[in-house]
Amino acid sequence: MSRRRTVSDIGEFGLIEGIKKLAEAHGSNAANARKGIIAGIGDDAAALNLKHIGDRVILFTTDTLAEGVHFRRGWMLPEEIGRKAVEANASDIAAMGGKPLYALVSLAAPSSLEKNVFDGIFRGIVFASEQYKTKIIGGNISRGKEIQITLTLIGAAKKDELCLRSGAKPGDFIFVSRPLGASAAGLGLFSRGIRGFEETKKKFRNPKADFSFSGRLLAAVTSMIDISDGLLGDLGHVCESSKAGATLFTGNIPIDPDALKAAHRLNHDPLDYALHSGEEYALLYTLPEQHLPLAKGFLIGEITRKKGIYLFNNGVRMAVKPKGFDHFLRGKHKGGCHGIVY
Ligand SMILES: [Mg+2]
Repeated sequence: MSRRRTVSDIGEFGLIEGIKKLAEAHGSNAANARKGIIAGIGDDAAALNLKHIGDRVILFTTDTLAEGVHFRRGWMLPEEIGRKAVEANASDIAAMGGKPLYALVSLAAPSSLEKNVFDGIFRGIVFASEQYKTKIIGGNISRGKEIQITLTLIGAAKKDELCLRSGAKPGDFIFVSRPLGASAAGLGLFSRGIRGFEETKKKFRNPKADFSFSGRLLAAVTSMIDISDGLLGDLGHVCESSKAGATLFTGNIPIDPDALKAAHRLNHDPLDYALHSGEEYALLYTLPEQHLPLAKGFLIGEITRKKGIYLFNNGVRMAVKPKGFDHFLRGKHKGGCHGIVY
């Protein structure tokens, strides 16, 4: 049997040429002039003319997906790994109330990486970017011990629709855009090697950023964040930035039906999944009472003057510690699924 081709058989420049062709074939670099690209993939730096953004605010975000930390090759197809890198970054742009426009992609990989795995990852990146009409304008490829994908997105938001974490006020209602918990439940299924539950596993493998909010809602929200570190962890970030506290009504927290089914099989409290599941990419936002008619999703609590986060259930109020995922506090962390713990 002949040896499978690896990235070292192609070489850096051949790989870049391949990426350029793939991006061009899928419209990512078509109509350069209209989208403000003066120079894209293949020059020393991308050159953009951002006149078409007008007086919108420019957003920048970057995120790394590391093998063994964010994904395992046995659990996800190469294309899904590429898609997840785009969704994770796009979700941060969504959380600011913006839209992604351009992407820089950096990939580190061992020279033994099979060419078809490399191609699959880039297909995922190109297809997911195309879906957001985001142009790939450059990046870097280097040798590394394991696969690491670093994506940088450049986006834009209208000034009055920009959503920061810091604007929540006591009395504002807290919402999440969709049911939670499936990502952690999916990870639990993979970790325990449980067969079936394909829908739940799919939600772990193919997370989606949420761009479903209207401009009117974005203009009305007082704070927003995407749930990448778990509901409690990310609510903790909002409370800290807004110098406030929060009470969550446990009975109102929407739990994904696929997470419920898996939780039953895994003998795990489904509410724990909903509170701590990372990489959900649902939006968590706060809205003052007068704008309630614009609300989307599920009302789960209220911002309070009193600091700290409390769960309110059947007349009992209980203080909880936000324990979002911290990459450098491994071992101290109990909830969440952002990061695979071996
Ligand atoms: Mg975020």
